[in-house]
Formats: sequence, structure tokens, C-alpha cells
Amino acid sequence: MTGLVRIDGSMGEGGGQVLRTALALSLTTRRPVEVTRIRAGRTKPGLMRQHLTAVQAAAAVGSGHVTGAEIGSTSLRFEPGTIRSGAFEFSVGTAGSTTLVLQTILPALLTAGGPSSVRLRGGTHNPMAPPFDFLVKAFLPLLGRMGARVEAELVRPGFYPAGGGECLVTVRPVPRLAPLELLARGEVRRRRARAVVSKLSREIATRELSIVSRLLGWEAECLEAVSVDSAGPGNVLSLEMASDGLTELFTGFGERGVSAEAVAERVAREVRGYLASGVPVGEHLADQLLLPMALAGSGAFLTAPLSRHATTNIQVVQAFLPVRFDVEADEKGNCVVRVMK
Ligand code: ATP
Repeated sequence: MTGLVRIDGSMGEGGGQVLRTALALSLTTRRPVEVTRIRAGRTKPGLMRQHLTAVQAAAAVGSGHVTGAEIGSTSLRFEPGTIRSGAFEFSVGTAGSTTLVLQTILPALLTAGGPSSVRLRGGTHNPMAPPFDFLVKAFLPLLGRMGARVEAELVRPGFYPAGGGECLVTVRPVPRLAPLELLARGEVRRRRARAVVSKLSREIATRELSIVSRLLGWEAECLEAVSVDSAGPGNVLSLEMASDGLTELFTGFGERGVSAEAVAERVAREVRGYLASGVPVGEHLADQLLLPMALAGSGAFLTAPLSRHATTNIQVVQAFLPVRFDVEADEKGNCVVRVMK
């Protein structure tokens, strides 16, 4: 396939993911893209800092030419050039998510002519985005099984609203991503609950962990309360489960006006749902595996019914790549998602 790809940014879920997936695939397929009605499904449509940084990052990595790259812009045209490798630095400038900026350029960097390092500044632990720990524990190891060698180091955490976080990611290109199948979870071999606070009482972390222990029965040696230094206050609770098949990680964020107990109960409920479902791949991982699996040209995973976010992502992927996603519900209502050419 060649030629301009037109993407209606209001399609499906109508959020920032439509734009990021479109840019990522414009870079890897070298096809120009026009995205209109960007984030039309959101209360404040158009490009916000995180999205604009993603566009700028795509232009830098892909020697691209872009029109419409301004805050609030609801349409843009992106023409990719040659994919570059080397040292890159991108600052969101707010607490906007650094991992979502990475999501936009990582597939292209995997196809580059040499290794790259990417220094990203902004938020590293944001609600509604992959937290840094999710990237390192859940997502990158699976990319690793597909042949991609990507390492990420947290220099400083950044929480909403102060931001000020930094991470450094190194990427070695791979000739072609290998297919991956995640159809069974197997035994959960290791559990780890990590409650992190910055500029807040450590007691918040210990209260969250006691809820994890009570609701999930996780033993004391799995629980860790950590105080970190960040530009502003923050609290994040990560529940990590390493199974035979993969590692999944679920996250809760402390919020003003929400008790530590309520934050922990919410994540514990998510973990219970995951364990009861028997699927290996959780909602967010499902979303994020679609693109690399499509680039590999085949692969499959078992997950809970797909979110609207994921089905929207499938539509965008199919606008660029000659792949088909077969979604088949099993007897429990879970779904096997198969990617094929
Ligand atoms: P907007 O929708 O406001 O434009 P956005 O650009 O932040 O916002 P979304 O379209 O909501 O983007 O996409 C969010 C991304 O973050 C998705 O890839 C989703 O899988 C991922 N994500 C959200 N929450 C988590 C989480 N707790 N763990 C891992 N990944 C997450």
C-alpha cells in the first residue's frame, strides 16, 4: 500500500491514541497521513502538550514534514522522510505522559539503521497512560520476546500535576519483529505490591499495602512502601504478577479527596477480576500489543472482551497495514485476538 492515509480522529473512542497509532504507522510504512477531527471525542479536543510532543518526536525521528502542529490544532498532515537513529531528547513541558510519546516513535526506532537513545521529560506515572513500571515490567519484556531489545531507566519520577520526571530509553533495531502467542497465563509465580509516595506521608503507602494484604492475601514479603523524590507530590500503587506466560501490572493513583484505602481497593478489584478471568493479557496490554503484533504480521493473545479503545486502535492499524484481526469469543466470554495477513 502507498499514498496518503486519511484518518478521522473522531473514529471510535476518538482520543489521543488514534493520532499516536497513525503517526507510528505513518513512520513505519513511510506513508503520509492526514488526521482530522483530532481528539473530537474529548471535552478539550485537539492537540495537548503530550500529543504535540509526540508529533514533534515523530517529525524528529522520521525526518518528517508536518503542518498543523500547534496546541489546540484539530487536524494535521504528516509526511515522513528517512528514519533516523541516534540520541534524541523530548520534553513534554507539562506532566503529560512521556511513555505515550515513546509509544509514538518506538516502532519506527526499531526499524532504524542503528541504535538510539531517547531522553524523555514530563510525567512518568500518569493516570490514563502506561506508567513507567508497566512499560518496564509488562510491555517491554513482551517486545523483547518479539526480538526487540529496548531498555528503559527511570531517572526521576514525574507525577501529575508537577511533572518534572525523566526517563532514558535505549533501542536497538530489529530486522523484523517475531510473532508472539499469549494464549495461556499459567501459574502466578511472583507477586509484588509497590506503593510509592513523593512529598506525601509514607503512611499513605502502608495503608494501601494493608488493603492489598487484606483483600488479596498477599504476604508481607511481597509488599514494599517506597518514598521517592519528585518535583511534586504523588502516590502510585503498582500490583505486579509474574506468571509462566507473562507479567501483568495494574496501577492505582492517589488523588486528592480519595482515601488511600479506596485507591488500593480499586486496584485490588482489578487484580481480582484479572485473576478470576484466567486470561493472560489485561485490558491495557491488549491495547498496546495490537500494533507490534500487526507489524510482526501474525500473533495471537487471549484477553477479556476488547475495550472500545482497542477496537478503535484496530481500525487505525488496518488503515495502514494489510492485516486482519480475528476476534473470537470463547465459552467464558473472553476473546482470542488473532492477527494475520
Ligand atoms: P486522550 O484520550 O485524552 O486524548 P491520551 O492521549 O492520553 O488521552 P488515550 O487515547 O486515552 O490517550 O490512550 C491511553 C493509552 O494509555 C492507551 O495505550 C492505554 O492502553 C494506556 N493506558 C491507560 N491506562 C493504563 C494503565 N493503567 N496501565 C497501562 N497502560 C495504560
